[in-house]
Amino acid sequence: MRALIIGVGQCGTKIADLFALVDFDTIALNTSRGDLEYLKHIPHDRRILIGESITGGKGVNANPLLGREAMKRDLPLVMRKIGSIVGYEDVDIFFLTFGFGGGTGAGGTPVLAEALKEEYPDSLVVAIGALPLKEEGIRPTINAAITIDKLSKVADSIIAIDNNKLKESGDDISSAYEKINYTIVERIASLLALVDVPGEQTLDASDLKFVLKAFGSFATVGYAKADASKVKNLSRLIIKSFESEGLYLDANIESALYGLVAIHGPPEVLKASDIFEALDYLTSKIRGKQIFRGFYPDPRERDVEVVTLLSGIYESKSIENIVRTAKEYARSFMQAKSEAETKKKELLTGLPDFDDVYP
Ligand code: GDP
Repeated sequence: MRALIIGVGQCGTKIADLFALVDFDTIALNTSRGDLEYLKHIPHDRRILIGESITGGKGVNANPLLGREAMKRDLPLVMRKIGSIVGYEDVDIFFLTFGFGGGTGAGGTPVLAEALKEEYPDSLVVAIGALPLKEEGIRPTINAAITIDKLSKVADSIIAIDNNKLKESGDDISSAYEKINYTIVERIASLLALVDVPGEQTLDASDLKFVLKAFGSFATVGYAKADASKVKNLSRLIIKSFESEGLYLDANIESALYGLVAIHGPPEVLKASDIFEALDYLTSKIRGKQIFRGFYPDPRERDVEVVTLLSGIYESKSIENIVRTAKEYARSFMQAKSEAETKKKELLTGLPDFDDVYP
């Protein structure tokens, strides 16, 4: 299973930087030279400044139209770099990490996703994006709505992380961001670490690709981990990994088309009856009725770890709120604009040009 992580913009490259820390192949793309320099783990020759001719390396100031333009201008350079890393061996999944509410990531990611789909039709393109906080105001929400629309037409799946969930932690904003970034990397890395690994029942790359090839709908990754000696009911732990509070996206899991569950832990805890009880329940609960599964008994392990992936999700409060807010804003803005124009006309109609006042 080969994955390439491409971080776009500040949020995206920070997340990609953590993937680099755990030895994933990564690339960082940004319009801000300063933000690229700030990264710790992605090698310098994998950091590409885009859009320098329009921004001078100073970023796009949360404007996704500029982010889009920056990516378009330097797409040949970016694709050449990606091509040199990919080489002759196929990449199963390109993961594109970014923030929905900014400019470089929000504008650039859909452009890159489309180019990757065209150049590598057998590979999947999965977007992993952080949704803006409500408190950030209307611009990030609009940026997110535009990007959701564009990505849903080109990506195979969109794994959305709702930053609003961060507020529940009580941490300051940068530690809260750091925590959520670690969480998403830990979950994806744990999932990918179990693909193609021999087990009692093995998940292979084609299973994962099948689940993520979900026509641009939303996907979410759940996780639960516990000390094996304290697990009385594995079934409950598996179901917990599916529950919404573990997923960083407010979504109706029943609307999912596919699910995938990977369970790793000491053999005596991985009881077939518990596992099948949970899987039967979850299979009946999700709309698509298909759950792929992998069981990995490991006598060296002292914890039980459950990673779940749900895809094909089309009912999510987090997403609906953004799209609805953006639509309402667009409607009221257009109305205010047309009222202002009418007012202007009313006010100025009948005003003579006072040319003869000044000789
Ligand atoms: P860009 O560089 O122009 O793409 O803009 P950013 O990447 O800074 O995107 C800003 C959006 O991403 C805002 O809505 C933030 O809430 C979110 N964001 C910024 N940094 C982080 C981060 O480290 N983690 C998470 N989860 N979200 C972030």
